[in-house]
Amino acid sequence: MSYDFDDHDTIYSQATAPGKAGVAIVRISGPGAIEALTAIAGPPPEPRYLALRRLRDQEEVIDDALVVRFDPGASFTGEAVAELHLHGGVAVVARTLAALSRQPGLRPASAGEFTRRALDAGRLDLTQVEGLADLIDAETEAQRRVAVAISTGSLSATVEKLRASAIEALALVEASIDFADEDDAPEDVAAEVGERIGYMMRELTALVGVTKVGERIRDGFRVALVGAPNVGKSSLLNAISGKEAAIESPIAGTTRDVIEVACDIGGLPVTFVDMAGLRASDNAVEAEGVRRAFRVAEDADLRLFLSSPDVAAVDANGLFREGDLTVWTKSDLGAGIADLSVSSLSRDGLTELLDEIAERLRSRAMASVSASRSRQTIIMSKAIDDLSHVAPGEALEIASANFRAVIDRLDELIGVVGTEDVLGEIFSRFCMGK
Ligand code: GDP
Repeated sequence: MSYDFDDHDTIYSQATAPGKAGVAIVRISGPGAIEALTAIAGPPPEPRYLALRRLRDQEEVIDDALVVRFDPGASFTGEAVAELHLHGGVAVVARTLAALSRQPGLRPASAGEFTRRALDAGRLDLTQVEGLADLIDAETEAQRRVAVAISTGSLSATVEKLRASAIEALALVEASIDFADEDDAPEDVAAEVGERIGYMMRELTALVGVTKVGERIRDGFRVALVGAPNVGKSSLLNAISGKEAAIESPIAGTTRDVIEVACDIGGLPVTFVDMAGLRASDNAVEAEGVRRAFRVAEDADLRLFLSSPDVAAVDANGLFREGDLTVWTKSDLGAGIADLSVSSLSRDGLTELLDEIAERLRSRAMASVSASRSRQTIIMSKAIDDLSHVAPGEALEIASANFRAVIDRLDELIGVVGTEDVLGEIFSRFCMGK
């Protein structure tokens, strides 16, 4: 997908989801926004005040709508912006968009183009853009919480501090290069630089650590159901997804050996994985399925080992890890020994099981998360690597080059410098109108 972002165009798009609704919002951004608003709605209201206007196209009334405008420098995109709050009918929106298409210099916005303009105008940095994309995608409370922190600048603030520290360290090193031939070269430079490196390493390492939690919150924790055939895995999965709102699985690439159901468990996105492939067989194809299912169970955040009155527990084969749960299923048929008992039939014990799962995962999600994407982790890890190469007593020129590299990486993180393909990748995932 290629982008033709021309700053001088005025763009417009429906900002609300397509389809019937009480209200639909059409947004216009760019130098011609207010003129276009005036052409179809009459005199514009004061900035940031809603006003009722009758919209017209070619002498015909389109709708009565609330309109609002924002001045350049005081809008989401940084440009002049107008919004039309229409009655949310498909034809109303279509006719409004048609009317706008007739205005000189206006063209439909591409996906993410409003946000791209906000980035270009410095209204948001790249981490905030990523946070905003996640906020729109957030389906659970934990996802919303992380996304809103990042979109309002929690990662940007940390990166800003690190960047300032790297610039100070660079200045110190460069000053001592200048003084190197003189008698009064600053002697405590090495100690000061070392302190700054220590600070940056600690901050970055902590950030990389919590990003793993952030990625889990963004993509969902995975809980594997492990048990022999007929122990009740799929029944349990059905009972859980019937009780909790099943959310659209954010994870692609599932194999047919593994059945996944994504749920909102106490605000945490949790994907339950039924190891269909663990139904062992002599068949070579199924053996491959078993191997894959085993890997999936191993990589899960939590494993539930199932046994029931009529089916013995499978040999956990070293899969069991601290924090995992044993679950006695079909408890309506008889009692057994396990961490928890549940009946998918009577639903006894289901709430307790879900509470326990939420509790175990929540303790891992408690870290205050301010980064959530692998793009961010990769850049931060490279910066840690750069810093680790600034060894004490190393040639000052090399230290200087490493600090410059760290500053470049931090700039890349917040999007001050960036390649068009990274931006294209991020913006292509935005929906139309954002
Ligand atoms: P899976 O092969 O592990 O997915 O097991 P299933 O969920 O297909 O269940 C195997 C059999 O056990 C089916 O006949 C289910 O109806 C039965 N079953 C599953 N859960 C319960 C339960 O809670 N109570 C009772 N009585 N039967 C159950």
